[in-house]
Amino acid sequence: MSNKTTRNPWEIALEQFDIAANKLGLEGDMCEILRKPKRQLIVSFPVKMDDGTYKVFEGYRVQHNLARGPAKGGIRYHPDVTLDEVKALAMWMTWKCAVVNIPYGGAKGGVVCNPMEMSQKEIEGMTRRYITEIAILVGPERDILAPDVNTNPQTMAWIMDTYSMHRGYSVPGVVTGKPLCIGGSEGRNKATGRGVMIVTLNILEKLHMDPEDTTVAVQGYGNVGSAAASFLAEEGCKVIAVSDVSGGFYNPKGLDLKGINAYVSTSKNHLLEGYKGDADPISNEELLLLDVDVLIPAALENQITDEIARNLKAKVIVEGANGPTTPEADRILEDRRITVVPDIVANAGGVTVSYFEWVQSIMEFFWSEKEINEKLEQIMVRSFNDVLRTSEKEKVNMRTAAYMLAISRIAEATSIRGIYP
Ligand code: NAD
Repeated sequence: MSNKTTRNPWEIALEQFDIAANKLGLEGDMCEILRKPKRQLIVSFPVKMDDGTYKVFEGYRVQHNLARGPAKGGIRYHPDVTLDEVKALAMWMTWKCAVVNIPYGGAKGGVVCNPMEMSQKEIEGMTRRYITEIAILVGPERDILAPDVNTNPQTMAWIMDTYSMHRGYSVPGVVTGKPLCIGGSEGRNKATGRGVMIVTLNILEKLHMDPEDTTVAVQGYGNVGSAAASFLAEEGCKVIAVSDVSGGFYNPKGLDLKGINAYVSTSKNHLLEGYKGDADPISNEELLLLDVDVLIPAALENQITDEIARNLKAKVIVEGANGPTTPEADRILEDRRITVVPDIVANAGGVTVSYFEWVQSIMEFFWSEKEINEKLEQIMVRSFNDVLRTSEKEKVNMRTAAYMLAISRIAEATSIRGIYP
């Protein structure tokens, strides 16, 4: 049994859009406008590698829709990045910003590369040149970048520095998720995981499930997955399995997350591989099929396929990753009455605190971690409840409900602005 499909994320994003647009009765012209990415930039650029040779990389920046504000979205470094994947991720960012009601449009960027096989110097060189190539689109009032898979606060610092060097002065607002010492925000690094925890507790409450009696499995132990796991454990949930690209670990009595976090903080490429604590090895597919209450996919797209959906045992899925569930799997999960809290709500904590960081960067006035976490919780709980109410009122699943909310907000902004000229 394979947990991979060849489904194109862009086709999936359009299919999800069409379901909600149909339900909303959105008129044809508006559908056409909202379906299309506004800008797609493809860049090829050489980078000097450590052995003195030059390697040409391909990168992308896509701005999907800017009706509600400047473009906002992360940068992904991965060998499987494609223009269609970046288009899908940009579209999902548009809906995510609208569903949590922050004044951004959606964007995403990516470079086809394998950072696991590159030195820090090579990654820095690639980052600086990529940002220079896409600089025609970016800026604190135009398109604000952030971390995604295989990019982190250090990458954001290089981006901020490169952009600022070209301007001749510091421009911290061009990027979020940057280190605190150059204008980053308290709470940003773990904000996506914190948001996942907040919505998980909310859905457990709705389903009358006690966190103390709840078991959790997390696929993907990077920025989002590791923070979500640790926050949920702090709230009393029992995290019994975690995994990453190197494999996973399982202990039905609950994992020692502090030990695991200490291990990955120093392991090669921060992977779980080689962990020797009190846990048994488990494959990614076995993790997805474990008998747990809550499953949190926090790795990549297309992980919960129809086959996995037919066989998984979780009662609730909270999507830390973007696009982890295929539309076929969605239909099966709905038939099986398994609740899915969709990505555009569940992982919106990151972009929400990115918004706080951007506001602080522009004002040059900073808030405490307590203020950030309180404001984040307010927005996450409000958005979760908005989606839940829409889902109950319209008798649709939470994904379609979230899309309906987001699409109607963007359609309203588009109509009121009018079509230029
Ligand atoms: P990351 O690079 O920090 O972590 C990704 C994790 O997934 C790593 O542990 C990696 O080993 C694992 N992984 C990769 N391929 C895998 C596979 N085939 N099977 C199992 N594990 C695999 O990235 P991240 O920032 O944590 O992003 C994870 C997901 O969350 C992505 O879908 C991303 O778009 C989404 N997301 C991230 C943020 C953010 O703030 N970083 C915000 C919203 C959504």
